[in-house]
Amino acid sequence: MAAEIRLFPCLSDNYGYLVHDPATGATASIDAPDAGAIVKALQREGWTLTDILVTHHHADHVGGIAELKAKYGCRVVAPHDKTTAIPQVDERVKEGDTVRVGHLAARVLETPGHTLDHISYVFDDERALFCADTLFSIGCGRVFEGDYPMMWASLLKLRALPNDMRIYCGHEYTASNVKFALGIEPDNPALKARAGEVARQRAANQPTIPTLIRDEKEANVFLRADVPAVAAAVGLAGKSPAEVFGELRERKNNS
Ligand code: ZN
Ligand code: FE
Repeated sequence: MAAEIRLFPCLSDNYGYLVHDPATGATASIDAPDAGAIVKALQREGWTLTDILVTHHHADHVGGIAELKAKYGCRVVAPHDKTTAIPQVDERVKEGDTVRVGHLAARVLETPGHTLDHISYVFDDERALFCADTLFSIGCGRVFEGDYPMMWASLLKLRALPNDMRIYCGHEYTASNVKFALGIEPDNPALKARAGEVARQRAANQPTIPTLIRDEKEANVFLRADVPAVAAAVGLAGKSPAEVFGELRERKNNS
Protein backbone atom coordinates (compact mmCIF):
# COMPACT_ATOMS: atom_id res chain seq x y z
CA MET A 1 0.00 0.00 0.00
CA ALA A 2 1.24 3.45 -0.85
CA ALA A 3 2.11 5.95 1.83
CA GLU A 4 -0.28 8.75 2.69
CA ILE A 5 1.40 12.13 3.03
CA ARG A 6 -0.16 15.15 4.70
CA LEU A 7 1.17 18.68 4.59
CA PHE A 8 0.08 21.54 6.85
CA PRO A 9 1.40 25.02 7.65
CA CYS A 10 3.19 25.46 10.99
CA LEU A 11 4.63 28.48 12.81
CA SER A 12 4.95 31.45 10.44
CA ASP A 13 6.12 29.79 7.21
CA ASN A 14 7.18 26.22 8.04
CA TYR A 15 5.51 23.10 6.72
CA GLY A 16 4.64 20.14 8.88
CA TYR A 17 4.51 16.73 7.20
CA LEU A 18 3.05 13.40 8.23
CA VAL A 19 3.99 10.19 6.40
CA HIS A 20 1.58 7.35 7.18
CA ASP A 21 1.89 3.66 6.35
CA PRO A 22 -1.66 2.30 6.03
CA ALA A 23 -0.39 -1.30 6.21
CA THR A 24 0.98 -0.98 9.74
CA GLY A 25 -0.51 2.28 11.02
CA ALA A 26 2.96 3.73 11.54
CA THR A 27 3.12 7.51 11.16
CA ALA A 28 6.19 9.73 11.01
CA SER A 29 6.38 13.47 11.43
CA ILE A 30 9.15 15.04 9.38
CA ASP A 31 10.72 17.41 11.90
CA ALA A 32 8.70 18.86 14.74
CA PRO A 33 8.18 22.57 14.11
CA ASP A 34 5.09 22.90 16.30
CA ALA A 35 3.71 20.11 18.52
CA GLY A 36 0.21 21.63 18.65
CA ALA A 37 -0.21 21.74 14.88
CA ILE A 38 1.18 18.22 14.51
CA VAL A 39 -1.14 16.79 17.19
CA LYS A 40 -4.09 18.48 15.47
CA ALA A 41 -3.14 16.98 12.10
CA LEU A 42 -2.76 13.53 13.68
CA GLN A 43 -6.14 13.79 15.38
CA ARG A 44 -7.80 14.92 12.16
CA GLU A 45 -6.60 11.67 10.52
CA GLY A 46 -7.01 9.40 13.52
CA TRP A 47 -3.31 8.52 13.39
CA THR A 48 -0.82 7.90 16.22
CA LEU A 49 2.71 9.25 15.96
CA THR A 50 5.34 6.50 15.93
CA ASP A 51 8.41 8.36 14.64
CA ILE A 52 9.92 11.80 14.23
CA LEU A 53 12.50 12.11 11.46
CA VAL A 54 14.63 15.16 12.20
CA THR A 55 16.55 16.94 9.43
CA HIS A 56 18.66 19.45 11.38
CA HIS A 57 19.04 21.16 14.71
CA HIS A 58 17.32 24.52 14.13
CA ALA A 59 14.60 25.42 16.62
CA ASP A 60 11.86 25.68 13.99
CA HIS A 61 12.48 21.99 13.19
CA VAL A 62 13.02 20.50 16.66
CA GLY A 63 10.93 22.71 18.97
CA GLY A 64 8.04 20.24 19.22
CA ILE A 65 10.03 17.07 19.91
CA ALA A 66 9.82 17.00 23.72
CA GLU A 67 6.06 17.51 23.80
CA LEU A 68 5.39 14.93 21.06
CA LYS A 69 7.66 12.37 22.68
CA ALA A 70 5.94 12.86 26.02
CA LYS A 71 2.52 12.40 24.42
CA TYR A 72 3.24 9.48 22.05
CA GLY A 73 6.50 7.91 23.24
CA CYS A 74 7.59 8.00 19.61
CA ARG A 75 11.07 7.20 18.31
CA VAL A 76 13.23 10.20 17.43
CA VAL A 77 15.63 9.74 14.49
CA ALA A 78 18.18 12.50 13.96
CA PRO A 79 21.51 13.32 12.35
CA HIS A 80 24.82 13.30 14.18
CA ASP A 81 24.73 16.92 15.34
CA LYS A 82 27.64 18.42 17.21
CA THR A 83 25.50 21.10 18.81
CA THR A 84 23.42 18.65 20.86
CA ALA A 85 20.51 20.98 20.17
CA ILE A 86 18.22 18.08 19.24
CA PRO A 87 16.50 16.69 22.33
CA GLN A 88 15.70 13.06 23.19
CA VAL A 89 17.24 11.34 20.19
CA ASP A 90 16.83 7.55 20.02
CA GLU A 91 18.69 6.84 16.81
CA ARG A 92 21.44 8.73 14.97
CA VAL A 93 21.64 8.26 11.22
CA LYS A 94 24.17 9.03 8.50
CA GLU A 95 24.54 8.88 4.72
CA GLY A 96 23.22 5.64 3.26
CA ASP A 97 21.29 4.52 6.34
CA THR A 98 17.72 3.34 5.87
CA VAL A 99 15.00 4.46 8.27
CA ARG A 100 11.82 2.40 8.39
CA VAL A 101 8.40 3.83 9.12
CA GLY A 102 6.26 0.71 9.37
CA HIS A 103 6.89 -0.96 6.02
CA LEU A 104 7.99 2.27 4.36
CA ALA A 105 11.69 2.93 3.88
CA ALA A 106 13.54 6.23 3.75
CA ARG A 107 17.12 6.58 2.61
CA VAL A 108 19.28 9.12 4.43
CA LEU A 109 21.26 11.62 2.37
CA GLU A 110 23.69 13.95 4.10
CA THR A 111 23.03 17.40 2.65
CA PRO A 112 25.18 19.81 4.70
CA GLY A 113 25.57 23.53 4.09
CA HIS A 114 22.56 25.21 5.73
CA THR A 115 23.81 23.45 8.86
CA LEU A 116 26.62 20.92 9.11
CA ASP A 117 24.24 18.25 10.40
CA HIS A 118 21.52 18.66 7.76
CA ILE A 119 20.17 15.42 6.30
CA SER A 120 17.36 14.67 3.85
CA TYR A 121 15.05 11.66 3.77
CA VAL A 122 14.26 9.97 0.44
CA PHE A 123 11.28 7.60 0.32
CA ASP A 124 12.29 6.03 -3.02
CA ASP A 125 9.21 3.85 -3.51
CA GLU A 126 6.93 6.77 -2.68
CA ARG A 127 8.91 9.17 -4.85
CA ALA A 128 8.99 11.62 -1.92
CA LEU A 129 11.96 13.71 -0.81
CA PHE A 130 11.96 15.60 2.49
CA CYS A 131 14.82 18.07 2.25
CA ALA A 132 13.83 20.72 4.84
CA ASP A 133 16.09 23.77 4.48
CA THR A 134 18.51 22.49 1.83
CA LEU A 135 16.39 22.81 -1.32
CA PHE A 136 13.29 24.99 -1.57
CA SER A 137 11.05 25.43 -4.57
CA ILE A 138 12.94 27.93 -6.79
CA GLY A 139 15.36 28.50 -3.95
CA CYS A 140 17.66 26.95 -1.38
CA GLY A 141 18.49 27.41 2.27
CA ARG A 142 20.85 30.05 3.56
CA VAL A 143 24.35 28.74 4.10
CA PHE A 144 24.82 29.25 7.84
CA GLU A 145 27.33 26.60 8.94
CA GLY A 146 28.85 25.18 5.77
CA ASP A 147 30.39 26.90 2.77
CA TYR A 148 29.24 27.41 -0.79
CA PRO A 149 31.04 24.41 -2.35
CA MET A 150 29.55 22.19 0.37
CA MET A 151 26.01 23.47 -0.23
CA TRP A 152 26.41 23.23 -4.00
CA ALA A 153 27.50 19.58 -3.60
CA SER A 154 24.40 18.92 -1.48
CA LEU A 155 22.16 20.49 -4.11
CA LEU A 156 23.80 18.36 -6.81
CA LYS A 157 23.05 15.27 -4.76
CA LEU A 158 19.36 16.20 -4.67
CA ARG A 159 19.33 17.26 -8.33
CA ALA A 160 20.53 13.74 -9.25
CA LEU A 161 17.35 12.17 -7.86
CA PRO A 162 14.73 10.93 -10.35
CA ASN A 163 12.79 13.57 -12.26
CA ASP A 164 9.45 12.42 -10.85
CA MET A 165 10.62 12.72 -7.23
CA ARG A 166 8.28 15.05 -5.31
CA ILE A 167 10.01 17.64 -3.16
CA TYR A 168 8.59 18.43 0.27
CA CYS A 169 10.68 21.26 1.70
CA GLY A 170 10.70 22.97 5.06
CA HIS A 171 9.26 26.39 4.25
CA GLU A 172 6.83 28.26 2.01
CA TYR A 173 9.28 30.70 0.46
CA THR A 174 8.41 30.09 -3.18
CA ALA A 175 6.92 33.48 -4.10
CA SER A 176 9.95 35.39 -2.81
CA ASN A 177 12.27 32.89 -4.52
CA VAL A 178 10.45 33.33 -7.83
CA LYS A 179 10.84 37.10 -7.63
CA PHE A 180 14.59 36.76 -7.09
CA ALA A 181 15.06 34.08 -9.78
CA LEU A 182 13.24 36.19 -12.40
CA GLY A 183 15.80 38.93 -11.74
CA ILE A 184 18.56 36.52 -12.84
CA GLU A 185 16.71 34.58 -15.57
CA PRO A 186 13.87 36.82 -16.80
CA ASP A 187 13.49 34.83 -20.04
CA ASN A 188 13.57 31.28 -18.63
CA PRO A 189 10.26 29.81 -19.91
CA ALA A 190 10.02 27.16 -17.16
CA LEU A 191 10.55 29.83 -14.52
CA LYS A 192 7.95 32.13 -16.09
CA ALA A 193 5.45 29.26 -16.14
CA ARG A 194 6.20 28.46 -12.50
CA ALA A 195 5.82 32.16 -11.59
CA GLY A 196 2.29 32.14 -12.98
CA GLU A 197 1.43 28.92 -11.19
CA VAL A 198 2.83 30.18 -7.87
CA ALA A 199 0.93 33.47 -8.16
CA ARG A 200 -2.32 31.54 -8.69
CA GLN A 201 -1.59 29.13 -5.83
CA ARG A 202 -0.73 31.87 -3.36
CA ALA A 203 -3.74 33.98 -4.37
CA ALA A 204 -5.91 30.93 -3.61
CA ASN A 205 -4.01 30.44 -0.32
CA GLN A 206 -2.75 27.05 -1.52
CA PRO A 207 0.70 25.59 -0.84
CA THR A 208 3.22 25.65 -3.70
CA ILE A 209 4.56 22.34 -2.35
CA PRO A 210 5.22 19.63 -3.40
CA THR A 211 7.21 20.42 -6.49
CA LEU A 212 9.13 18.00 -8.74
CA ILE A 213 12.86 17.52 -9.31
CA ARG A 214 12.20 17.83 -13.06
CA ASP A 215 10.57 21.23 -12.68
CA GLU A 216 13.16 22.53 -10.23
CA LYS A 217 16.00 21.57 -12.56
CA GLU A 218 14.48 23.79 -15.22
CA ALA A 219 13.25 26.69 -13.10
CA ASN A 220 15.31 26.86 -9.88
CA VAL A 221 18.26 29.15 -10.54
CA PHE A 222 20.16 27.72 -7.53
CA LEU A 223 20.20 24.31 -9.26
CA ARG A 224 21.40 26.01 -12.45
CA ALA A 225 24.72 27.48 -11.29
CA ASP A 226 26.46 25.26 -13.88
CA VAL A 227 24.42 26.68 -16.77
CA PRO A 228 26.70 29.07 -18.72
CA ALA A 229 23.90 31.62 -19.21
CA VAL A 230 23.35 31.79 -15.43
CA ALA A 231 27.08 32.30 -14.79
CA ALA A 232 27.07 35.08 -17.40
CA ALA A 233 23.99 36.68 -15.85
CA VAL A 234 25.86 37.22 -12.57
CA GLY A 235 29.06 38.35 -14.32
CA LEU A 236 30.95 35.11 -13.65
CA ALA A 237 31.18 33.51 -17.10
CA GLY A 238 33.70 30.66 -17.05
CA LYS A 239 33.87 30.47 -13.25
CA SER A 240 33.18 27.29 -11.29
CA PRO A 241 29.57 26.34 -10.51
CA ALA A 242 30.31 26.61 -6.77
CA GLU A 243 31.47 30.22 -7.26
CA VAL A 244 28.40 31.03 -9.33
CA PHE A 245 26.22 29.38 -6.70
CA GLY A 246 27.92 31.44 -3.97
CA GLU A 247 27.28 34.66 -5.88
CA LEU A 248 23.61 33.75 -6.36
CA ARG A 249 23.22 32.94 -2.66
CA GLU A 250 24.88 36.22 -1.62
CA ARG A 251 22.65 38.21 -3.93
CA LYS A 252 19.59 36.47 -2.50
CA ASN A 253 20.79 37.19 1.05
CA ASN A 254 20.99 40.87 0.18
CA SER A 255 17.80 41.02 -1.87
ZN1 ZN B 1 16.92 25.64 9.28
FE1 FE C 1 13.81 26.10 8.91
